[in-house]
Amino acid sequence: MTTAPWRNWAGTESAAPVRTSRPVCADEAAAAVRAAAEDGLRVKAVGSGHSFSGVAVADGVLMDTGGLDEVVEVDPGAGLVTVGAGMGLWRLNRVLEAHGLALENLGDIDRQTVSGAISTGTHGTGDRYRGLSWQVEALKLVLADGSVVRCSRSERGELFEAARLGLGALGVIAEVTLRCVPAFKLRAVEWPMRLEAVLDRLEELVSENDHFEFYWFPHTERALAKLNNRYSMADRRRRPSRLSYWWNEDFTENALFGASSRVGARFPAAVPRLNRVAGRVWSARSYTDLSHRVFTSPRRVVFREMEYAVPREALPEVLGALRGAVDRRGLNVSFPVEVRFAAADEVWLSTAYGRRTAYVAVHQYHRHPHRDYFRAAAEIFDAVGGRPHWGKMHRLEADSLSRLYERFGSFLAVRDEVDPDRRFANPYLERVLGP
Ligand SMILES: Cc1cc2nc3c(=O)[nH]c(=O)nc-3n(C[C@H](O)[C@H](O)[C@H](O)COP(=O)(O)OP(=O)(O)OC[C@H]3O[C@@H](n4cnc5c(N)ncnc54)[C@H](O)[C@@H]3O)c2cc1C
Repeated sequence: MTTAPWRNWAGTESAAPVRTSRPVCADEAAAAVRAAAEDGLRVKAVGSGHSFSGVAVADGVLMDTGGLDEVVEVDPGAGLVTVGAGMGLWRLNRVLEAHGLALENLGDIDRQTVSGAISTGTHGTGDRYRGLSWQVEALKLVLADGSVVRCSRSERGELFEAARLGLGALGVIAEVTLRCVPAFKLRAVEWPMRLEAVLDRLEELVSENDHFEFYWFPHTERALAKLNNRYSMADRRRRPSRLSYWWNEDFTENALFGASSRVGARFPAAVPRLNRVAGRVWSARSYTDLSHRVFTSPRRVVFREMEYAVPREALPEVLGALRGAVDRRGLNVSFPVEVRFAAADEVWLSTAYGRRTAYVAVHQYHRHPHRDYFRAAAEIFDAVGGRPHWGKMHRLEADSLSRLYERFGSFLAVRDEVDPDRRFANPYLERVLGP
């Protein structure tokens, strides 16, 4: 008997699992894993399906983690918060806010689950900041044999290092303990710049602001610079009015952008002109608000995405090559290229492992062909030792990935130990980790 088919947010992946389970605690998840083993089925824990890659595709039991969403413990003094792994980031942010806490950094959206976000290395931007897996202090995990274990730096340290960015390959995460910071505000400043000017001032923009990123509009010289700086909660600067929030987040970045993407899909020759208009309409603005409201925005225009982490110093070369490829190959690119930054970290499979990183994300509207563009971009990223985001589209396999990650072998050794029968494998994991 099969259950309802599953599709990810972007529509790039689908699955027809044999059955679905929806545990509400670790013991129920453990029982579902044992039952799957008895029936010879594989198990895939699934968050909110926001990965573009096949990382969350279930071919046996689809374990919907949405029921694992309770607040287990909050210790504001220590800044430690333990929650059910399937809790949405949107809800976690509100829980933290109520306790005067916040996550120190976030990505662009808050629709992911906590476990989904950490399992693929979800990150935001900031020269001194690292991804969400870096903020994990401990995990409660259901292993392939149905046992429920805890791990942290001091308890089963190797399992912890692997499982805090584990691609769902090591077990079902039931609870996550996160290190939080006192709640803070962000002052956002956004303004259009020429791409050359951004690259000329790159070091200063990245190092002198807490969270700097920029978008470049292909076929044009235009870029939109965005910087967010941190202020205490006592700061009295203005929050955006409802009208300005609606204009920027709802109208400009979603409704208008969606309409322009549809026109571009119908009349590809108009794309360069549409990008020039978008570069003008996404105009200068500044506002201050709670951190999570500034870090994240709604994303209603559906797109495909590939993102690579490249060594920071390679960024100008990478962008130059990308511009050249778009022009030379006559590619039609309707979405801006997003560039973000992160400090080096030590999470084994983190795309920022051991090096200061620039993230370059290429997107394409979902009704627009993306293959030639993404292939051209991947060649450029691969040439500088880029590491693809585990949750976004890419074509790399275990053999080449093993050369990009110093601790790849350590990760595989933990996998062999805790999941020798590959209960948690799927076709994507077979490709990127091996059988
Ligand atoms: C519009 C959009 C914007 C995005 N913005 C960003 C961004 O700013 N920065 C960034 O880095 N990424 C971003 N992403 C990518 C996204 O953060 C990741 O793909 C993330 O993994 C999605 O979380 P999810 O809850 O949807 O997990 P899913 O996609 O459902 O699953 C991802 C992985 O987590 C595993 N998993 C989930 N729950 C568990 C569990 N309980 N135990 C074990 N394994 C589990 C799954 O098996 C799978 O391997 C974006 C994606 C979209 C669609």
